[in-house]
Amino acid sequence: MFSKGVKPMCRSLRKIAVCFLSETNVASRRLSLSSVFKSTYSSTTSHIHRLNAKSQSTASQNHILNGTSRADVKFLQSSESCRRFLDRYDNFLFDCDGVLWENDHVTHIPGISEAIHLLQDLNKRLIYVTNNSTKSRLDLQNKFNEHGFHSPLENVFTNSYACALYLKEFLGVKDSVYLISGEGTKWELDQLGIGHFGSGADLCQPSSHVSTLLKHKFNDEVTSVLVGFDEHFSYNKIFKAASYLMDPNCHFVATNIVEKSAIIGREGRKMKMPLTGVMVNAIAEAAGRQPVIVGKPFNTMFDCVRKQLPDLDLSRTVFIGDSLKADMGFAKSVGIDSALVLTGVNTSSDISQFPDLCPEFVLRSLADIVH
Ligand SMILES: [Mg+2]
Repeated sequence: MFSKGVKPMCRSLRKIAVCFLSETNVASRRLSLSSVFKSTYSSTTSHIHRLNAKSQSTASQNHILNGTSRADVKFLQSSESCRRFLDRYDNFLFDCDGVLWENDHVTHIPGISEAIHLLQDLNKRLIYVTNNSTKSRLDLQNKFNEHGFHSPLENVFTNSYACALYLKEFLGVKDSVYLISGEGTKWELDQLGIGHFGSGADLCQPSSHVSTLLKHKFNDEVTSVLVGFDEHFSYNKIFKAASYLMDPNCHFVATNIVEKSAIIGREGRKMKMPLTGVMVNAIAEAAGRQPVIVGKPFNTMFDCVRKQLPDLDLSRTVFIGDSLKADMGFAKSVGIDSALVLTGVNTSSDISQFPDLCPEFVLRSLADIVH
């Protein structure tokens, strides 16, 4: 369905060939996505849930894991190639960590502010789509300001915000969400008026003794279990979540799952930081159920973007990210072009290992669009 009808495999970047999408293929992909939206938004809540789950288990995952797309990659280095790239698109969707700043969430990437200002001066629409559930949209907006640029809140999408939208708009959930996630997710649920409990440290005594576990108090009205990154993640939380999920009517929703760990530490001893995927998988294993994953690379996140920005022309939209699995997979899942920047998770040599996730373009850094 997403075949671009070009060269058979993504080769090394030394063998780069230019590849632009034909309008026919763009139209085909747009039609496919349009069908998903029509199905998603015109049905009842329960039907929507089934469609969403089906979509994730078939279309998206097939394209991500066994994708049919093969494309050559264009390495944007010259001013002429960057100019053509900028002319090609009106809408630029950005991942944040590893693109706008380094993955340590702190270190500036030189030239990013200038690149964003260039795009703004060219009247491009800039939309930010991140899997970082620790931040609210307001947190991100403030962080943009710290890095020297600004964005209206309606152009900022976190997976926490998308989860809140999904619970409210798709599932009709208004209350009693067992929340295993941080302040960013809590803020987004509060903004949409969705009642929740469980955030922060679990106050019950940590113990694996059955006699102690049986004393835990449970909320009989729980409607959903929502899992994101939680620095207070614990055995008690797994126990409670898995117990709530024994009820098949209790929704199981996760912010993201691809991000499982990150290496931290620049000098001396390096360390491995567990991320959201570890927590989601722990609960899924204990519960014996799989969640609906809202964040990238699954297209529920994009459904939320389209609901808020329905006039987005997909044929003139590109996603710029640093992760082949999360970002390039997301772009392929929703049927838009993609560009990989080499300032984050993946290197150019990784591309050949994931031929199904080949981006259309590679940039050493987003800053390289400024010449
Ligand atoms: Mg990233």
